[in-house]
Amino acid sequence: MDLNLTPHEEKFRIELRGWLRENLPEPWPEVAGGSETDPGYLEHLRKWQQTVFAGGWSGIAWPKEYGGRGASYIEQAILQEEMAAADAPPQIGVIGLSLVGPTIIAVGTNEQKKRHLSKILSGEDIWCQGFSEPNAGSDLASLSTAAERDGDSFVVNGQKVWTSFAHIADWCLLLARTNQEATKHKGITCLLLDMKTPGIEVRPLRMMSGESVFNEVFFTDVRIPAANVLGDVDQGWGVALTALMNERANLGAGLYAMFRRTVDSLVEHAKNMRRGGRPLAADSCVRQKLARMHVELEVFRLNNLRALTRLSKTGMPGPEASIQKLYWSEYNQRLCQMAMEILGPQAQLSGFDGGRWAYNYLRARGNTIEAGTSEVQRNVIAQRVLGLPRSY
Ligand SMILES: Cc1cc2nc3c(=O)[nH]c(=O)nc-3n(C[C@H](O)[C@H](O)[C@H](O)COP(=O)(O)OP(=O)(O)OC[C@H]3O[C@@H](n4cnc5c(N)ncnc54)[C@H](O)[C@@H]3O)c2cc1C
Repeated sequence: MDLNLTPHEEKFRIELRGWLRENLPEPWPEVAGGSETDPGYLEHLRKWQQTVFAGGWSGIAWPKEYGGRGASYIEQAILQEEMAAADAPPQIGVIGLSLVGPTIIAVGTNEQKKRHLSKILSGEDIWCQGFSEPNAGSDLASLSTAAERDGDSFVVNGQKVWTSFAHIADWCLLLARTNQEATKHKGITCLLLDMKTPGIEVRPLRMMSGESVFNEVFFTDVRIPAANVLGDVDQGWGVALTALMNERANLGAGLYAMFRRTVDSLVEHAKNMRRGGRPLAADSCVRQKLARMHVELEVFRLNNLRALTRLSKTGMPGPEASIQKLYWSEYNQRLCQMAMEILGPQAQLSGFDGGRWAYNYLRARGNTIEAGTSEVQRNVIAQRVLGLPRSY
């Protein structure tokens, strides 16, 4: 594997840096504590997404016919790295961009592609992912929200939970049971649900970080046109797997850039902050911790390149995506823990670096649960990468 960028990729990076210099918005004052529950912050993100879209930098790895650039996955990784390095605002509608869009491209009808793809790229439509239920998380195929056929529609009743961004979403990628007789993986259908449809109630849940960005969602006789079935009726399990693999695969490069900035910023603090009259970095324990975080981050970067190489060759993320999900979520928790240990009690203050260390520490706890728990990722790796038998 050649880990150097090709001249074409270098040119791409330079062009992007030039565009970022011209177009980056003024820093948003609340960035560290910016929350999707704040309308001002949301407006800031929406404007930025429109600028990115107008510049032709949204969904660049999507085929040109669907509004992308047909760029390579390496170019997409470069874009995510450069955005993070330039401190660009995060992209709004990350579920639409990383998970729903690629799934509609893979199995959607022409009508669905025409209706949804460009609005995902521009941030005009925000999506949420209505998969988990109170009794169906890791064992997602046990879901019981029902969609019953009635003429040209499906009528949905049931409940979802932990639905990130449902409180601001225009659309939901919904999994519902359409066949009570079939075995549990066979009777599920994936539907595209307009969140303005009557009968939907969204109740925000408060996270330990203090924000309310995920929700319970209740459905009472919610009508969805049959034309909004994504893929085939009763074949939604395969569609869900496509969506989940895209979710796991698309996160890597952006996260690498984010962790790189965190490690670099910790290193700077360790050099400049003093405790007992000496820089923090003079303490051998601090140096050990920082070196360890740097090395582990390099491992993550190289594994990302491996996953991208496979994606470039096959067009489909493989079970290696589970290695990445497991790795980044547990890495981030170690990193946040070490940051608190190195920086000391002041890192818990909202006035220190805009409260970002305390926020990151609390938010990281959910990393090993969201997008599939660590135990489930290890099961996937055991079975699908190592070829071990199923557990009982
Ligand atoms: C921050 C955050 C955001 C989220 N956003 C969304 C969203 O937008 N949309 C959505 O649909 N869901 C979302 N989720 C839900 C998430 O996907 C589920 O929480 C996750 O899949 C786990 O399901 P569960 O909570 O029901 O736990 P359970 O599946 O009940 O698991 C409980 C414990 O048992 C373990 N366990 C379960 N099965 C096995 C097994 N076979 N072998 C070994 N151990 C096992 C798990 O690892 C876990 O430790 C989000 C969750 C979080 C934390």
